[in-house]
Amino acid sequence: MAMNVAIDGPAGAGKSTIAKAIAAKMGYVYVDTGAMYRAMALYFLRAGIASNDEEKISSVVDDISVSIKYEDGAQHVILNGEDVTGLIRTEEVGNMASASSVYAPVRSKLVALQQELAKTTDVIMDGRDIGTVVLPNADVKIFLTASVECRAKRRFDELVAKGMEADFDKIAKDIEERDYRDSHREISPLKQAEDAILVDSSDMTIDEVVNTIIGYCNK
Ligand code: C5P
Repeated sequence: MAMNVAIDGPAGAGKSTIAKAIAAKMGYVYVDTGAMYRAMALYFLRAGIASNDEEKISSVVDDISVSIKYEDGAQHVILNGEDVTGLIRTEEVGNMASASSVYAPVRSKLVALQQELAKTTDVIMDGRDIGTVVLPNADVKIFLTASVECRAKRRFDELVAKGMEADFDKIAKDIEERDYRDSHREISPLKQAEDAILVDSSDMTIDEVVNTIIGYCNK
């Protein structure tokens, strides 16, 4: 049986940084499910579809193929044959991903892909619904969170470090809006699974979080 570790939590809690570090140390494959929703979002944006046009979004889902591949251990997302890994990290794509991921056809397509991956491979998978819907029988379930202020500060510092423009209040507002939408949607809302362990990273270093979670994996 493959080892499955689920990490859920709100935007900016550090899930991907933490999951990547754990994957490297434990020899698991890191699966970033947010990147899959982002790839689909990029398709909708390019097609000029409005984020609230459920009918149109549902009607094109079958035209979209999303898959992932690994190069030197890093996940690449392939959208209809094109490697879009470098194109999906913008706020625009993130907001479209959050808006379009409320629709059932979008979710069921990606959940099936995620479940298939976890069947045969030792994975650490991060997202919003991994412990609750995608891998309800995961060996370890973590709900990783941090205060809005702390998450906004991390995002702000990240943008500034890249030499990009950043507005702290706008980032915090976007995070709050996305949290609200992700946790109030009808299908698979962001919530802590009953058997998930809560880890609040607000006052923890990356190493502390990584080692805490590895401790649970080794138990
Ligand atoms: O984690 P990331 O910010 O890349 O995810 C983008 C959006 O995709 C999230 O705001 C969320 O709405 C959606 N998502 C989801 N379920 C997942 C992963 C991401 O609904 N498992």
